[in-house]
Amino acid sequence: MHHVDRNSGILNAEEKFTLEERRSYQETFLREVITVAFGAGTPLKAAMYGKRLPPENIRNIEDLQKLPITKKKDLSEGQKANPPFGGFLTVPISDLLRIHQSPGPIYDPVGKIHDYWRWRTALYSVGFRPGDLVVNTFAYHLTPAGHMFEEGVSELGAVIIPTGVGNTETQVEIMKNLGATCYIGTPSFLMAIFKKAEEMGVNVPTEFKLEVGFLLAEMLPESLRKRLIDEYQMIGRQAYGTADVGCVAYECPEVNGMHVHYDVIVEIVDPNSGDVLPKNEPGEVVVTCNNKIYPLVRFGTGDLSSIVDDPCPCGRTGPRLTRIMGRADEVTKVKGMFVHPSQVQKVIDSHPEIAKGRLLVDRHQDTDSMTLEIELKGEVPEGIERVVEETIREVIKMKGSVRIVAPGSLANAWKTIEDVRKWD
Ligand SMILES: [Zn+2]
Repeated sequence: MHHVDRNSGILNAEEKFTLEERRSYQETFLREVITVAFGAGTPLKAAMYGKRLPPENIRNIEDLQKLPITKKKDLSEGQKANPPFGGFLTVPISDLLRIHQSPGPIYDPVGKIHDYWRWRTALYSVGFRPGDLVVNTFAYHLTPAGHMFEEGVSELGAVIIPTGVGNTETQVEIMKNLGATCYIGTPSFLMAIFKKAEEMGVNVPTEFKLEVGFLLAEMLPESLRKRLIDEYQMIGRQAYGTADVGCVAYECPEVNGMHVHYDVIVEIVDPNSGDVLPKNEPGEVVVTCNNKIYPLVRFGTGDLSSIVDDPCPCGRTGPRLTRIMGRADEVTKVKGMFVHPSQVQKVIDSHPEIAKGRLLVDRHQDTDSMTLEIELKGEVPEGIERVVEETIREVIKMKGSVRIVAPGSLANAWKTIEDVRKWD
């Protein structure tokens, strides 16, 4: 498979839709999805009844804003109250291909449809080609991940080598003996395999045939992407999806964001007000997919990103999600420990003189740092910073500094924790 052109070509004509073509295509499937979900009596029907909204009133993408957002919590609670699928499934359970359990727990049904999770297009875009030998290191049980990517690889016409998680030494042997050309998994596990290979005396750049890494489920630092090219002569690319809905967006050779799949309508929503935000503004990624078997309309992923739609030189016209910036529920890992927004709020509430505050999480020289920015109600009490820093230490069990900011400067800060760490 050497000297394969992994950067040119576009798999599907739909990826080159004009703005009007994409809108018309998406609104057609949107109306179908709404009709099916309503007809099957899914929770959407109850929500629409409550608002006296007949299905005919949802005709275009803007009309989606009349409908509630389905939160992950609605799914897990709905499934508990009305097992196994919370009433979201529109076909008899016997018509399914598989049922996965993902953490939550949430049951994920898979319909008997080619490329059900839509990864085929993404795999081509990141550089996979028919005939590739693909090592898939995602787990094949108690998560949809393994099968999800396996399906996409098969639909693309590439060869799957299902290795799952762990067994690093065996992974090294398989990659070397079979001459695997592509890897699917987390960036950190790929590096763990390389490290193990080097310990085993394998010269990775010459003895491995890896050319593309499809790197998911974790942040991919730009420094690591560069290292893969420089040290291992391989492409590292990312995509974004979830266990509930499958592929949402994927990188192209330009590596300037992730093109939204044409079968997915993405809205970026203010997590507090629920309002749809304009392009370039960060908010929660809310998706409506072309899935009539398990239609999750306006599914709130809980992930934060923003949309850009300037033309991409690759020729794909789909708008692009920028880097995933964290979780809308804001639970953030700092120095390996989870910090909850409620802890930050507790610090703020302990000091009546604070009008508003937010925690900035940053990173300097590979070490995380926390700064609580506070707006004060009146005069600045002498030594207030030290006193609040002491509260941070008590409540969050970590050292953080305090910075007083001018009244009004946090007016537009809707997050209690703002993660500003740069990973490149
Ligand atoms: Zn592109």
